[in-house]
Amino acid sequence: MLIRNVSLLLGRELDYVNTACVRISNKYIETIGKKIQSKKDEQIIDCEGLLMMPGLINAHTHIGDSIAKDINIDEDVESKIHPVTGFKQKILKSSGVSHLTSFIQSSCLSMIRKGITTFIDFREGGVKGVNILQKASFGIPIRPVILGRIDFYQDFKSIKTNSPIPESKKLDLKNLLNNCDGIGISGPNEFSDSALRHFSKQRKICAIHSAETEESNATSSKVTGKSETERALLAKPDFLVHMTHASKKDLQLVSKNKSSIVVCPRANGALAEGIPDVNLMLETGCNVAIGTDNVMINSPDMFKEMDYLWKVSMGMKKKRLAPKSILKMSTVNGSDLLGGKVGIIQINNIADFIFIEKHAIDLEPMHNPYASLVHRISENTIRAVMFKGEIIHGKI
Ligand SMILES: [Zn+2]
Repeated sequence: MLIRNVSLLLGRELDYVNTACVRISNKYIETIGKKIQSKKDEQIIDCEGLLMMPGLINAHTHIGDSIAKDINIDEDVESKIHPVTGFKQKILKSSGVSHLTSFIQSSCLSMIRKGITTFIDFREGGVKGVNILQKASFGIPIRPVILGRIDFYQDFKSIKTNSPIPESKKLDLKNLLNNCDGIGISGPNEFSDSALRHFSKQRKICAIHSAETEESNATSSKVTGKSETERALLAKPDFLVHMTHASKKDLQLVSKNKSSIVVCPRANGALAEGIPDVNLMLETGCNVAIGTDNVMINSPDMFKEMDYLWKVSMGMKKKRLAPKSILKMSTVNGSDLLGGKVGIIQINNIADFIFIEKHAIDLEPMHNPYASLVHRISENTIRAVMFKGEIIHGKI
């Protein structure tokens, strides 16, 4: 397939190219150039008026709780989503698989319409939970990256005495990891140092919630004398989720350990728990990606997430933040969590794209494409979405 006359955001720097040709072969980007000669019998698509951007990476979701949208909205964060006592867990456990499946599928379809081609999900419920998401998303043109967890949490006494993970649970973890892409740890406050170090030894993706609330940070200091993030890093995570209340020292440690951060500002806002300081994260050299978190408390919409993050950061800091840096968080920076083959328009990468109508009434005239894409695009300005070289939503 040869795409002609398209504007695009090229490479890791999202360089704006006004007119380009892109050849897609076998799901991958084969060539990008100003002019490319078509091959005999090649499908040619003229994309005059369209801007091609990478398919978005939603770097943190809990899609399994799509069934519980806006339940008990005024409750505090712990009673909502605590991994052991939260009512979210009760809803997940008491809901039928077919019900859970149908709402997971709705959220997958919703994300596709919003240009999300990859999402990284924290899936509760062990292998069974992982299987529910695998089966629900099978045949839907979206890429779920599934980070499972075992049904095992430690109390403060076990943390203080540094109890190890029992052998039977280590086996459960091994079995879990044979069935999914990695581990999504609920947080350091549920595990001893020994357990966190055990998590660090597995070879798949490792991610952990950290410093989501002031309270969770305070609990960590009280129980262990260390910050939540200091302890989260014992698991050697590829990325930490939230970091809403991370100190500068925490962020420096994350940067030094070459871990990344995934922020979920709208979820933090919805839970009335504060806003992550992305300026400070960038200043300390952290790689920052964006996620939309629980579907229970937030819509899986990266456009809204970018718009919110951009403005709330500038409003709170009274300092400009480049819209391109926000756009990178939804594409390039998320790509770095997954090996770099998605989320960046470059040769040999997978052909996942969004085609935006440059002349849409909400966008024209597009004087600054980065700003327009961060705060003016929506489902309505998308002409089509491509996944692995095939148009799976809309038409071009
Ligand atoms: Zn989460």
